[in-house]
Amino acid sequence: MTDTVKYLLDESNIPTAWYNIQADLPEPLPPVLHPGTLNPIGPDDLAPLFPMELIGQEVSTERYIDIPRPVRDVYRLWRPTPLYRARRLEEALQTPARIYYKYEGVSPTGSHKPNTAVAQAFYNKEAGIDRLTTETGAGQWGSSLAYAGTLFGLEVKVFMVKVSFQQKPYRKAMMEVYGATCTASPSEETAAGRAILEQNPESTGSLGIAISEAVEQAAQREDTNYALGSVLNHVLMHQTVIGQEAEEQLGLAEDYPDIVIGCTGGGSNFSGLALPFIGNQLRGGKSVRVIAVEPAACPTLTKGKYAYDFGDTAKQTPLTKMHTLGSAFVPSGFHAGGLRYHGMAPIVSHAQELGLIESRAYLQTECFEAGVLFSRTESIVPAPEATHAVKAAIDEAERCKQEGKSETILFNLCGHGHFDMQAYSDYFAGNLNDRAYDQQELAMALAGLPPVATG
Ligand SMILES: *Cc1c(COP(=O)(O)O)cnc(C)c1O
Repeated sequence: MTDTVKYLLDESNIPTAWYNIQADLPEPLPPVLHPGTLNPIGPDDLAPLFPMELIGQEVSTERYIDIPRPVRDVYRLWRPTPLYRARRLEEALQTPARIYYKYEGVSPTGSHKPNTAVAQAFYNKEAGIDRLTTETGAGQWGSSLAYAGTLFGLEVKVFMVKVSFQQKPYRKAMMEVYGATCTASPSEETAAGRAILEQNPESTGSLGIAISEAVEQAAQREDTNYALGSVLNHVLMHQTVIGQEAEEQLGLAEDYPDIVIGCTGGGSNFSGLALPFIGNQLRGGKSVRVIAVEPAACPTLTKGKYAYDFGDTAKQTPLTKMHTLGSAFVPSGFHAGGLRYHGMAPIVSHAQELGLIESRAYLQTECFEAGVLFSRTESIVPAPEATHAVKAAIDEAERCKQEGKSETILFNLCGHGHFDMQAYSDYFAGNLNDRAYDQQELAMALAGLPPVATG
């Protein structure tokens, strides 16, 4: 055996199609409901917000959907991304497990998000749209859509959760470099924002509120559509280039994962890595243990309810069945801004109900501790979100050591932490709070779930 650490592919190995797990699910996803009538929605209900091509992908049951040439041409700028064998980390842990990680931080904005941003910008441009609105938490998605917008000549307007807007000025600057406009949310620009500010002028915002503002503006203008960075079926599908490449790269290593791990905010980087492997299993291939990792302060999969809920706070979006903490839930302060959403992707939620995945939650200090060990062994400083996956990979490697098992662990290192160094400073200064979720806040938010009979 060689001691290779880096498994590279060349441009010709970029996948030619996205993988759609809806083709292989043993039970179809529950329908998406109209918030007024509670009847299943049709394509026309979504047409004010999304181009038809993406609406089609949302409900498609085709197993593979071709990646358009112009999108693959952009992917070539940083894809295929490297797969690393974490030999130094393995050595530090003295584990018999083999640990691999797929590194998405080599993209222009430092995370997996451009994989879907580029595709969404392309389809919107094709449909004659001039302008996109969106929300962003920590700023990863806003800067990725800003980047994609500039490639395809679209104006991009980003509503950024106010607390992050104040804490992360460089993400806003990055959006402006790519020509986008970034506004703190809640803002005075929309009815949804004004309603929140009237109730609470000090509101620091939430993803649910920022989504309400972006959707409101997109619905009002013919030339404007809305783009979402996670949660939706088509977004998860665009991310499957990650898992498809990882499978090829593990083939070079003559290996295959026993365990696949990703952190979950809305579920897209986790799905991008895991769904192709779950698909193999559903079609009779090798079984994998798949682990979704979330923050204890926003425990959607481990403590949320599987129920119909709104995607936003102003209750404008259709109702989807998902694991949710309630659209009014505002998590306590913690640094993994990308993991603060109240809901979870319907596909990820459904997969957990079907027993195809498991989930767990960690407090932030233990995640940063794992992130620092990872940085000192493997060299890359992980984004705070990604440290959740690192922590789970380390825990599994330690279990392997105790049980004397040489399992293969694969995780997604979905982004680097170069814009999040304040979080590491706070960790070293001992200033991180390790509050789990607030039980009263959760009970109140769940009590506000829309009354939909779920069968
Ligand atoms: C946005 C983001 C996340 C959370 O979103 P998912 O859709 O769950 O992947 C996680 N990590 C990073 C680096 C992000 O930018």
